Amino acid sequence: MASPTEKENAPKPSNFLRGIVERDLEQGTYRQRHWGGGPGDAAHHRMGEPDPARIRTRFPPEPNGYLHVGHAKSICLNFGLARDYQGICHLRFDDTNPEKEEVEYVESIKDAVRWLGFDWDAHGTSHLYQASDYFDFMYRAAEYLIEAGHAYVDEQTPEEMRVNRGDFSKPGTDSPFRSRSIDENLQRLREMRDGKLEDGKAVLRAKIDMASPNINLRDPTIYRIKHAEHHHTGGKWCIYPMYTFAHPIEDALENITHSICTLEFEDQRPFYDWLLDRLAEGGLINTPQPRQYEFARLNLTYVVTSKRKLKQLVDQGHVTGWDDPRMPTIVGLRRRGYTPESLQLFADRIGVSKADSWIDYSTLEIALRDDLDPKAARAMAVLDPVKMVITNWDEAMGAGHLDPCSAPVHPHAPERGKREFMFGRELWIERTDYEETPPKGFFRLFPGNKVRMKYGHVIECTGATKDASGQVTEVQATLVPDTKSGTPGADAVKVKGNITWVGVADGVKAEVRLYDRLFSVPQPGTGEKDFLDELNPDSLKVVTAYVEPSLGRAKGDEKFQFERHGYFVADRKDHGGGRPVFNRVTGLKDGWAK
Ligand code: ATP
Ligand code: MG
Repeated sequence: MASPTEKENAPKPSNFLRGIVERDLEQGTYRQRHWGGGPGDAAHHRMGEPDPARIRTRFPPEPNGYLHVGHAKSICLNFGLARDYQGICHLRFDDTNPEKEEVEYVESIKDAVRWLGFDWDAHGTSHLYQASDYFDFMYRAAEYLIEAGHAYVDEQTPEEMRVNRGDFSKPGTDSPFRSRSIDENLQRLREMRDGKLEDGKAVLRAKIDMASPNINLRDPTIYRIKHAEHHHTGGKWCIYPMYTFAHPIEDALENITHSICTLEFEDQRPFYDWLLDRLAEGGLINTPQPRQYEFARLNLTYVVTSKRKLKQLVDQGHVTGWDDPRMPTIVGLRRRGYTPESLQLFADRIGVSKADSWIDYSTLEIALRDDLDPKAARAMAVLDPVKMVITNWDEAMGAGHLDPCSAPVHPHAPERGKREFMFGRELWIERTDYEETPPKGFFRLFPGNKVRMKYGHVIECTGATKDASGQVTEVQATLVPDTKSGTPGADAVKVKGNITWVGVADGVKAEVRLYDRLFSVPQPGTGEKDFLDELNPDSLKVVTAYVEPSLGRAKGDEKFQFERHGYFVADRKDHGGGRPVFNRVTGLKDGWAK
């Protein structure tokens, strides 16, 4: 028992789900449970050891698409609770629907969970499960419900069933098949199972209450006929359980304690409890049984998270694929330069709540910057290059001379060493750093102004050459002697501007992909317009840039802060083999804030 002071000093649970878990642990709700070493029925678990997991949660994706940032929230939540409370989180493929699942997604889902930093192995056991392994038990549970008088085979037409269900203001009407005998029900269910009936000719329904104010309790369908091959069980079954029947059973067989789902399942909770109560009464499942808790799904501004819409973006070529760096899929975020730590930080910060809301995209970007800032090596890059020539270089420094300069890899981590690059007669500078007639408050390059070339010398701008269209083709300057950064007296000449640059002699040419938000409105597809008409036309701009030599040695997936420009990552797919390709992850600050 915790002493009163220990209790007072215990940190407050940071969200309501943690509160529930802590209460269950304190009350020992699940302390007596046993675990049969793998999923199974009551008898199987009874023979096992006391459950080594204090709680069990699960992440149960349907393998019918790539995971997105909303799933990342659910993964961090379920695996995070298990980690923090000495529990175990199962990865369960919810593959009870025979037609929809595709094997290709299974590997991508496993990769995504692992990449986020989680693992389904615990105490030497892999807790990777698939719901279709439970079909035999589910069928047994269906027969049990019939035997106990809790289910019947209904042969009304789908239309009759719909009408007889009633609506919010009208109670339903009992089916004429509702009062069939147990024997007749069993016989009919077996005929369904044995393929004697066509699709849609009959369903198995739970016998609850056709007048319930909760329409989900008006004798919900629990099994339907579907003559379809399943990718694991092949042709073994031609009847398949409904999701609302299958899911509670999956949880129960796996000894799940806290079954966490999104709010749209709230109305299903009474059926979840009803079903598990019945199966517990019959001694079929381990007890105490799992409980369902709901939280609000993540809605993130400027993206869509519906699988159907994401698929449309890919299929119609609005993006280059599921892993396009603009996609909110986990593979897309990863390629964009997001780190697992930044997504975990994001999930922790947004927390969980019971109220639906929209999280601003900038919250995700802030978490990323907070994670990358202390880690990412700094580098200089010129994204819109124009050449600057130092006209007195040969006299001042000697013809052909290159002057070595250096800068810290990270300003707050001197132990990470220095990057080196060459100052010379010709430098690349940003086009926007030069103005012929400077606007008020402009301290960069204009004729007559002195600035420091960062980590290098002070120069004085003398003018520029333009082409016929008025576009600047070259900027000229003169070197101010004895001003090299880090040498005595270098600061004697005071300047207001500090210009980033890359040497023409040692700069590396690179492709830089300037990604921006995929949609130009905060809640795409929620108004009058089709979401595809709300795509941001400027979500990708590809430029040829010059980057400092240290970036020529970057490895795929390595992240950097390009000074002044933001965070960039060497593209995991296209970078390498002498072809540097960098993706903009995010700017240094929120460019979208008003
Ligand atoms: P579908 O459109 O196929 O129903 P889904 O997003 O519900 O897609 P699932 O594979 O069923 O996908 O989801 C797995 C888990 O992820 C579920 O437990 C679900 O609650 C959770 N999840 C899905 N989308 C979100 C979201 N936007 N925010 C939080 N959790 C989510
Ligand atoms: Mg779903």
